Amino acid sequence: TNAVNGHSGVQFEHTSMKDVDKIHAELTESFDTGIMYPLEKRKHELAGMARMLSENADRWKEAITADVHKPDFQALLHEISIVHAAISAINDLDEWAKPLVPTVSDRYHSYKPVLYKVPKGVILLITPWNYPIALTLGNVISALAAGNCVVVKPSELAPTVSALMAELGPKYLDSKVVRFINGGVKETTRLLELKFAHIFYTGNGAVGRIVAAAAAKSLTPVTLELGGKSPVVVDPENFDPLLVARRILWGKLNNAGQTCVSPDYILCPESIQPALLEAMGQAMKEFFPDTNGVAFKHKDFGRIVNERHFQRVQSLIDRSHGEVVFGEKKSDPATYSVAPLVIKTDGNDSLMGEELFAPVFPLISVKDVDDAIKFINSRDHPLALYVFTQSPEVKQKFIARTRSGSLVFNDTWEQLSVEVPLGGFGESGYGQSVGRFGFDQFTHFRPSIDVPMEAEESLWLRYPPYTPAKMAIA
Ligand code: NAD
Repeated sequence: TNAVNGHSGVQFEHTSMKDVDKIHAELTESFDTGIMYPLEKRKHELAGMARMLSENADRWKEAITADVHKPDFQALLHEISIVHAAISAINDLDEWAKPLVPTVSDRYHSYKPVLYKVPKGVILLITPWNYPIALTLGNVISALAAGNCVVVKPSELAPTVSALMAELGPKYLDSKVVRFINGGVKETTRLLELKFAHIFYTGNGAVGRIVAAAAAKSLTPVTLELGGKSPVVVDPENFDPLLVARRILWGKLNNAGQTCVSPDYILCPESIQPALLEAMGQAMKEFFPDTNGVAFKHKDFGRIVNERHFQRVQSLIDRSHGEVVFGEKKSDPATYSVAPLVIKTDGNDSLMGEELFAPVFPLISVKDVDDAIKFINSRDHPLALYVFTQSPEVKQKFIARTRSGSLVFNDTWEQLSVEVPLGGFGESGYGQSVGRFGFDQFTHFRPSIDVPMEAEESLWLRYPPYTPAKMAIA
């Protein structure tokens, strides 16, 4: 069976089921030899990864365009540069891997308590199509840096990138420590029946539940990087329309809205909506000049990944009972392009059910910030929460009274540029990735003590029989 997907309609050869089992068995055996324990070996693999990217820069770029068709600038910045940044883990590895010495009471100093940071074993990574390079290789890097072996199942919806990984991987990386599997549901289902030390899944919540349920059978720990509807709240006090418009549109339009942390919908009072919508018009003209209202034809406007997702977005828009207050309902089925829209509606709209993953903003009126908090708290916990406000009291309200993966004031998306962990809360997932947080995710903090012979002088107390004399001392 072959997968046909993405913009190029490319097909890839699926890894055979026999090979899936074989790869798992080989890496399991290989991990047990301690192959990845030395830091030098880990650094060597990360250096291989850097060469795999830079020596084939054009092919990676072409593959991203073929599968997702994101603007070149975004492909460079949000895919390739991110992976190079992750590889700089090489410089931090000695520090990250150092055993931790816990603070203990004086009487236990002689036990030399320590937390060794040990690799977990063979990791299974299941990754999505929307950032097929960054979210795949970024996590491979964390897992290798932490000294694990890795089986990687990239998304069948990004078949060109997946096939390129399967082709180049063995040339630059040790096949005894990392292997790429080409496949879809069938292959992933088989992988989920095998025993791994940790499963790291990035994608939608429906599959996240399948992964967690499968892992539960063997008590395998899981990280779930999911998505959801990340709200934008705009406080009317000291509101700067153009700044807000630029920052929310930029975040929404990156990769045509197909980012896990894309701002999904807007909550603000009626009073500021005309100014916000007007400023959005101005921001669109700045971003996509000379396009006469068809911004989606601009080379720097992203596209929906494939026919199925394009139809899904069309259907959500068609079924909406809201009113279009910004943009026009236009799209191009030939390029899977969708025009940016703001649709004024309510919480029961078709656009307010699932994560949109499209350049479309539902706009929902709230009375004030408290009303916005009530709305957010009545729904699934979002991956990101964006709040535009200059007020310390309002910020404090969101810190204290809402929960989400991340909380960003006065911007969208920008948390991805900063060295803070990426991770959800509740329905948007659990566990964390990126940099040191990714390293920790794939590491077992293994407490160890070494009890000296002389400790017997105080340990005699614990041995039975528990005489009245011992009871008196205890
Ligand atoms: P996808 O459809 O490519 O699926 C992800 C992976 O799951 C693929 O490898 C696929 O083979 C596998 N899969 C699909 N169906 C399966 C099944 N029935 N059983 C077993 N495995 C299966 O990607 P997607 O889910 O469409 O990606 C988009 C979603 O990912 C969005 O919800 C987005 O918010 C989320 N996401 C989250 C993050 C994050 O870091 N939190 C990052 C990117 C994307």
